Amino acid sequence: MSDRSDGPADADLPDDVDAPDPETLEPGADDSAVEEAAKRVPRGVPLRVEGLRKEFGGITAVDGATFSVEQGSLTGLIGPNGAGKSTTFNCITGVHEPTDGTVHFRGEDITGDRPHAIANRGLVRTFQIARELDEMTVLENMMLAPGGQRGESITRSVLPGLRSDVVGQETELREDAWETLEFFEIDHLAEEYAGNLSGGQRKLLELARALMTEPDMMLLDEPFAGVNPTLEEKLLDRIHALREQEDLTFLLVEHDMDLIMENCEHVIVMHQGRVLDEGTPEKIKANEEVIEAYLGGEV
Ligand code: ADP
Ligand code: MG
Repeated sequence: MSDRSDGPADADLPDDVDAPDPETLEPGADDSAVEEAAKRVPRGVPLRVEGLRKEFGGITAVDGATFSVEQGSLTGLIGPNGAGKSTTFNCITGVHEPTDGTVHFRGEDITGDRPHAIANRGLVRTFQIARELDEMTVLENMMLAPGGQRGESITRSVLPGLRSDVVGQETELREDAWETLEFFEIDHLAEEYAGNLSGGQRKLLELARALMTEPDMMLLDEPFAGVNPTLEEKLLDRIHALREQEDLTFLLVEHDMDLIMENCEHVIVMHQGRVLDEGTPEKIKANEEVIEAYLGGEV
């Protein structure tokens, strides 16, 4: 994994970010320090979804969902089958174009942007490893992870007439790939074909691949499906480590309520395409409407 210590102080920040937190400024800080702080994205709310709506023919999959996700949080998105969770993810990450509503990421309107453009901004979701990647090794899968310009450098590097900077980039990419595999403790599988991995190892690889894009925020749609308890523990541990070490933000769809309640500090409940409730796990657990949504009122 590459060094992210430069944090969110990117140069291409929107103008409409909130004022800097005065507590982060030294007393007597000069104007340039103030400007620097103003450029920084405030700790706050990287993702805002407002009035999101998605229709497929006659079906309204998402029906005016509004919510936001706090920086560095592990936020759970729950709801019964068909509630619109996956469609919401697809609208946020550009897989589907919303019928209505807006998606803002780090202060910028990304509604309807292409998936690669959104990923390049640092908002990614995991994707199942495509069948053709089964024929490649774990390391090759990592090197081919969608990484914007770095992905192109690989294509160029197989062409004759290599430039040294291209070689340098590939070396860096390979090092990143190894470090990320080590982080997920699947580096011993680097030369294994992806098709030979267990379901759980595959999930770890999916997460590892997504991390190669150096995201600021990840959307995980049922990442623990088919994962044994030991690997599930490991995945959760890595997610929490990424939050602490790199200030990554996670939005997680998961049907295991215990897992959600134990690991998320904020929970959003969707039902029939809308946000039914949101809040702390304690608040959600106490909401009878939520129980009804899940159990059809048979409580
Ligand atoms: P969840 O992930 O919460 O189970 P989904 O977002 O997958 O729910 O689905 C919400 C609703 O939208 C369901 O009724 C589903 O059948 C429908 N739906 C989802 N994707 C499509 C699609 N591509 N075309 C038509 N209907 C869809
Ligand atoms: Mg789903």
